Amino acid sequence: MTDYYDLTYSELREKLAVIGEKPSRADIIFPVIYGMNGGSLTDSGLKKETLEKLSGNFFCGELECISTLTSETADKFLFQLRDGNTVESVLMKHEFGYNVCVSTQVGCNMGCKFCASGQLKKVRDLSLSEMTGQLLAVRKKLGQKITGLSIMGIGEPLDNYENVLRFISVAMYQKGFDIGAKHITLSTCGLVPKIYELAGAENPVNLAVSLHAPDDELRRSIMPSAKKYSLAEIIKAARYYSERGNRRITFEYVMLSGVNDSDECAEKLASLLKDINGYVNIIRYNPTENPPFTCSPHERIMSFYDILKKNGIGVTMRRELGASVNAACGQLRASAITDRKGVNIP
Ligand code: SAH
Repeated sequence: MTDYYDLTYSELREKLAVIGEKPSRADIIFPVIYGMNGGSLTDSGLKKETLEKLSGNFFCGELECISTLTSETADKFLFQLRDGNTVESVLMKHEFGYNVCVSTQVGCNMGCKFCASGQLKKVRDLSLSEMTGQLLAVRKKLGQKITGLSIMGIGEPLDNYENVLRFISVAMYQKGFDIGAKHITLSTCGLVPKIYELAGAENPVNLAVSLHAPDDELRRSIMPSAKKYSLAEIIKAARYYSERGNRRITFEYVMLSGVNDSDECAEKLASLLKDINGYVNIIRYNPTENPPFTCSPHERIMSFYDILKKNGIGVTMRRELGASVNAACGQLRASAITDRKGVNIP
């Protein structure tokens, strides 16, 4: 038995051919299983024998939501996978639409010192079905179209590259979620070869790169993956990505008090990003259970912001400062284990 949600559109066509069905049936099946009312093929107009054959070969795997935390601006969902592992997704409710932040792995191997996800080693990659399942379940609760997708939940998406690309193709399927590539952002800690690969992929989505430091020494001290790829290599890859796809790159920078938030860091960051089509997204650090990190004070963040601006660098802040949401996925308390203890969205 194959889970429909574990197949891309073209994979479903192939599977149908294998069981002696017309591949074009995928044009009926996919819109039904990914449509707003999703799921049942009974009223799809397919003949009884076809339906029987399909139900003998395929099923619709769903994720079980075991807890939900709700706030005005964001909802957080905890899902139980079939093997008992758990992952989280976040729904961000913007004025202009609904953005869902999806996890790509159980745990993460990148080991960023300030990140709760990195404290739990990767258990495994998520399957396609476990990623589409997050979108399906969130949309079912929401009852509305999802307008944007952030691939920046738990895990390093470029470390689960093939499944993430397959997931993007499903999210973009026009008679399904119909989320355009321009509304999809993938965030990476900077796995350079995969950035180049993604640049040549069929669906070049927006790229966000977690920088968090303006020089290699500091970066290596907080992000172990920086030992493998230097900032120069990352910036070169980001530039290539931007030029090839004509995309503006987001550089994420989480404000860690006394670590990476000095004026000098801001100056260095500005010169690092001088000639690139990109902007810095300043992220307030959401304290986790990993001392010694805390978020920089408001004035420090403003000074950092001003220096970037003065140097002609585009800057945004993930939501307004002090806003009552910690649901941007990097701010997740990341592990289901912590979650079970109960995590608040302040
Ligand atoms: N592995 C990917 C995506 C996951 S996290 C990456 O590294 O980009 C998405 C973003 O949230 C990253 O920039 C990450 O560094 C950041 N982040 C992690 N923990 C955080 C926290 N406690 N507070 C704020 N941002 C955090």
